[in-house]
Amino acid sequence: DLLDQMGEDEVRALDRAHVFHSWSAQGLIDPLPIARAEGSYFWDYAGKRYLDFSSQLVNVNIGYNHPKVVAAIQEQAGRLATIQPSFANDARSEAARLITEVAPDGLSAVFFTNGGAEANENALRMARLHTGRHKVLATYRSYHGATAGSITMTGDPRRWPSEPGYPGVVHFWGPYTYRSAFHAESDEQERDRALQHLRDTVMVEGAHTIAAIILETVVGTNGILVPPDGYLQGVRDLCDEHGIILIADEVMAGFGRCGEWFAVDHWGVRPDLITFAKGVNSGYVPLGGVVISDEIRATFDQRAFPGGLTYSGHPLACASAVASINAFREEGIIENARRLGTDVIGPRLREIAAKHPSVGDVRGLGVFWALELVRDRETREPLVPYNAGGEAAAPMAAFAAACKQRGLWPFTHFNRTHVVPPCTTTPAEAEEGLAVLDEALSVADEFTV
Ligand code: PLP
Repeated sequence: DLLDQMGEDEVRALDRAHVFHSWSAQGLIDPLPIARAEGSYFWDYAGKRYLDFSSQLVNVNIGYNHPKVVAAIQEQAGRLATIQPSFANDARSEAARLITEVAPDGLSAVFFTNGGAEANENALRMARLHTGRHKVLATYRSYHGATAGSITMTGDPRRWPSEPGYPGVVHFWGPYTYRSAFHAESDEQERDRALQHLRDTVMVEGAHTIAAIILETVVGTNGILVPPDGYLQGVRDLCDEHGIILIADEVMAGFGRCGEWFAVDHWGVRPDLITFAKGVNSGYVPLGGVVISDEIRATFDQRAFPGGLTYSGHPLACASAVASINAFREEGIIENARRLGTDVIGPRLREIAAKHPSVGDVRGLGVFWALELVRDRETREPLVPYNAGGEAAAPMAAFAAACKQRGLWPFTHFNRTHVVPPCTTTPAEAEEGLAVLDEALSVADEFTV
């Protein structure tokens, strides 16, 4: 067909002529044309193969071209390609049933969106209307999406150009033992001090003004920050004490990434709202949503929920989610992700870290890991400064280029490289990629003191 006939040069030329890319200076980028993908790999037009340690934007949890998911989309397209949200639809009904089945008890309804930002936007709206309060507390070092409310809740530099943004958003520090905002020297200290800091923030903001606390259960792009045991339960207790809604943003951490259906399952904590996207169907068709507690659902039983989207619960997206969740179950994909973390990625990264002076910290779980790269292990000075771009980011660019040259596609952010392959990655593939990382880190070592 027509697309099959388009060569690499034409793809690139048309892209440069007409496609306006996310987060980019349009004249300074040269996007790599991708020809095809399968399992844990994708290929460029020259036939070069890349093992994907990024899962694209940490969303292809089931790997590329999963036959069951592709077939479900094809079948649904042939039957009913679209239907607006106020009708009932079998694919949507079943997707909602399955998502609530894998969610913690007491969350029994799903509001579907097209992605993560819209999910957080609507979760915030629900929390405000449910509580009748207006503020939301969100963490520094977070990403919640690029729409008005979600970018304001975001605690990283992507928020800056949109400031002052949406009213009523207050930022606080979450736990991050390696670069503690509380001068903590252990995870337990970090947990206790981060909780005291949040308690103080609630006190001075006025609990009666706070609708919600939103946090990424495990912080993703901003560093794979795994909360110390007890932190999330502490936040839950604080929310209960003050009638504050707890929103867990599981857009990146959910659906297998942490070796659980939802990252909160790792600690047995029940949020009031869970936002999801990415791994729910690995982005084969855009899909996100909010899983809603019985209490919040009841608020909108006799009163209209004032929000909606033309494509909420799109049949192609929902059919792909159904197929994906079923495949996760049939193929033990959650368990695979968990075992990759405990048996392969975690141990091997610790070995690698011991060899390379550029590695300051290793952290993660499941298929959600970070290596934090430093100039100096003693002072923990980052290999490149916070938010560095251009020349200042050259050491990270050199490291990433060394990975790509060897056929590994890394996920780098600031001074970190994240190890975030699909949940379906085999142990042998993981070993293959980790061996490349090991080699490429020699490039980062050259920038250490
Ligand atoms: N929340 C988290 C934790 C994310 O990682 C992302 C995307 O990276 C989003 C929200 C936004 O999702 P989307 O890009 O689908 O709007």
